[in-house]
Amino acid sequence: MTTVIEARDLHCGYGTLPVVRGLDLTVGAGEVVCLLGANGAGKTTTLLTIAGALPQLGGDLQVLGSPVTKARPYAIARRGLSMVPEGRGLFYKLTVAENLRLRRHRRSTVTMAEVFEQFPALPALADRRTGLLSGGEQQRVALAGALIASPTVMLLDEMCLGLAPIIVEKLLPMVRRIAEEHAMGVLLVEQHVLAALTVADRGYVLAHGRVVAEGSAAELRRDAEKLEAGYLGED
Ligand code: ATP
Repeated sequence: MTTVIEARDLHCGYGTLPVVRGLDLTVGAGEVVCLLGANGAGKTTTLLTIAGALPQLGGDLQVLGSPVTKARPYAIARRGLSMVPEGRGLFYKLTVAENLRLRRHRRSTVTMAEVFEQFPALPALADRRTGLLSGGEQQRVALAGALIASPTVMLLDEMCLGLAPIIVEKLLPMVRRIAEEHAMGVLLVEQHVLAALTVADRGYVLAHGRVVAEGSAAELRRDAEKLEAGYLGED
């Protein structure tokens, strides 16, 4: 399996203040890996560093075989990385179709028709203002927008935040399907621990900027209760 994200002894944070200290993490093509941890554990900081939006403070970080150091976020995106940030990153005054067209670029190989096939709820909403959609519909637009950029790596930050459990149970399997069908490596930050571990292959648990547990999704599911009590509540 090709490795699409590889972090070795990664240190990252804000200014000179390290938040994540010594992270070892890999994501392979076609794999869904979840990054779990309490509020403030350093999950978003890790994703922003992988996307090139925050500078590294130490260690080694490669995305799609090249170092991230000194690369600008747009250069990492051009390499084939797509991120759905916390809050979805949509243009709420624009229609669904306009949001999707904005994410499509010259080298995109995924068409609007293919995206509509993956997200059958979207064609009927294409001309609706995105800000007027439900949370679950907006999250589908965000995922569809990330997909239409035809990435090889996708970073998803708390895409299920604030959504009803029934919607979460529909959205997360979509992530699994997209990863498999497009041979894409997905790094998923999620508060819905068990739901995330149901669709993921592997996972890491961060606490205070360090990995305190890692393993297959099945292993982490087995330990979920212990992990919830120890590391997944408030930091
Ligand atoms: P959450 O689930 O609450 O989003 P998280 O695991 O994603 O948590 P991060 O957002 O990565 O956590 O934050 C990790 C730490 O970094 C926190 O202590 C936070 O206060 C701090 N932090 C976040 N953003 C900044 C910033 N811009 N400047 C300084 N410190 C920050």
